[in-house]
Amino acid sequence: MEFSLLVDAFEQMEMTSSRLRLTDHLVSLLRMTPTDIIEKVVYLIQGKLRPDFEGIEIGMAEKMILRSLAQSSGMGMTALLEIYRDTGDLGNLAKEAMHHKDQTSLMPQRMSVERVYSVLYEIAGTTGPRSQEYKIRLVSSIINESSPRESRYIIKFIMGSLRLGIADNTVMDALSLAFTGTKTNRVLLENAYNVSSDLGTVARILATEGLDAVEKISIILFKPVRPMLAERAPTIEDVFHQVKGSAAAEFKLDGERIQVHKANGRVELFSRRLEKITSHFPDISTIIAGSKLSDTIFEGEVVAIDLDTLNFLPFQVLMHRRRKHGVDEAIKNYPVYLNVFDILYYDGETKTHLPYSDRRKIIERLVSVINDHRILLVPQTVVQDAKSLSNYMSKAIEAGCEGIMVKQLESEYRAGARGYAWIKLKREYGSDLTDTLDLVIVGALYGRGRRVGRYGALLLAAYDPKTDTFKTASKVGTGFTDKHLADFYNSLGRHLLRHKHPRVDAAIQMDVWFEPKIVIEIVASEITLSPVHTAGMNAIREKYGLALRFPKFTGKIRDDKNAEDATKVEELVTLYSQQKRTIQR
Ligand code: AMP
Repeated sequence: MEFSLLVDAFEQMEMTSSRLRLTDHLVSLLRMTPTDIIEKVVYLIQGKLRPDFEGIEIGMAEKMILRSLAQSSGMGMTALLEIYRDTGDLGNLAKEAMHHKDQTSLMPQRMSVERVYSVLYEIAGTTGPRSQEYKIRLVSSIINESSPRESRYIIKFIMGSLRLGIADNTVMDALSLAFTGTKTNRVLLENAYNVSSDLGTVARILATEGLDAVEKISIILFKPVRPMLAERAPTIEDVFHQVKGSAAAEFKLDGERIQVHKANGRVELFSRRLEKITSHFPDISTIIAGSKLSDTIFEGEVVAIDLDTLNFLPFQVLMHRRRKHGVDEAIKNYPVYLNVFDILYYDGETKTHLPYSDRRKIIERLVSVINDHRILLVPQTVVQDAKSLSNYMSKAIEAGCEGIMVKQLESEYRAGARGYAWIKLKREYGSDLTDTLDLVIVGALYGRGRRVGRYGALLLAAYDPKTDTFKTASKVGTGFTDKHLADFYNSLGRHLLRHKHPRVDAAIQMDVWFEPKIVIEIVASEITLSPVHTAGMNAIREKYGLALRFPKFTGKIRDDKNAEDATKVEELVTLYSQQKRTIQR
């Protein structure tokens, strides 16, 4: 397949800010893609070379790209930098620079998607002492073979700035439409994606073997399973609206969720966002690798502990484990425990279909097989009424937990699903709203006064799964230290957009917009009706949405959460109604 066809599609997608049209473009692209490269095309459109969990990164800095472009275009660095200043984007610079050269050279040959993919893959796989020079040469040679238009996208891809706004859900909708003629089969694709976390493979199997084969995709060791998620309940009484009879109540520990895969001596740990994080916890993986467990996948919460008091320490302490150097030192200074709370695969067999009460028995066995004081069972009790739940909540808070999780004893493990099989109940944070909210940054206003050169206020949105969009609920400007402001300016720069993202539903004007990626934790005094925010629009009152009153950043960036894991619009609506109930009481 000619790469220029992919570039045509990219150009069209880049221009649309409507999700429906984006899906249409994607459907046409998938229909004309030969089945043997569909996997690669699915990765490329999402700016990837392989599924996230493989952790493949191209690893090229701006300076290296500039040197590659100097080699390909024959232009001097000063001239390049001048154009760069005007275009403000390395992809646009590549296009300009190659345009410049094009007038004096022969038309390049037509280049294939396969060729571009294989060069990008080679760049990503190049390591070692002289790798930088080699990478620069590879980029320069692929740019030499491309047209200016193609160069733009190749460079954007390499820099991770190909922001087409194509989320997993959009890809699944488009695959379903392109290969089965209807969106209704998307649920089957989603099931397969939930257990494999690999949309490229799902696309290949769908295109080559059909829907039946997609339905047979099941859990495979060392491919992370998308985690099961909890719904929130505002109060203890609300829990018992969902739970009939008894349920398991567990400590909700404030650490990092990990999914452990083990077969023979090999162990890999995956984060909640499905990244491979084995290197953050070598102590944990060594214990598990040395145990007698065979072919197993389980989940737990890693928590830092204070060795003097044996108290749990807050989640932020785990940040010290995210490093490449000084790992031994970090293990010693920041010891952790792994509290196991679920099992997906044991002794070579899938266990997700078993009721939770049976899975818990297997977890007990698993912990005793590992037999190490750092691998524990998450504390649990079975409760039947609000009173015993309330007592357990007090116990959890005393132990330093953020609240409790209530789990239905008969429930299966539903990969990638959020539902009332798991209910989270968080403790009060001293503000009038009983809970913190996790919202996505979708836009910003430039700062004034002391904040010149930074963002002064951030526009935040909640997630609406029904429309797969992000709806605004707040503009927040308090709770930020100078360091936060500087860090946000840098990290948000990677997600900057010229226009509103197609999946963002906002009715206010902002100075800049972002891809919905970064989730932050917010406290507020209450939720009010708002004519300008779109979250919960018309849910309570015609032409009114919901907004946060006195919102404040807590200092916690939820980088363990994807944008789709943010607080949902529906939750805001429930919290609003709940709050009214409290006020009336
Ligand atoms: P939240 O991130 O607020 O949606 O809460 C869900 C998260 O709580 C899970 O993804 C886990 O990381 C964490 N967690 C802590 N304790 C437990 C537990 N006992 N069972 C399940 N998840 C837990």
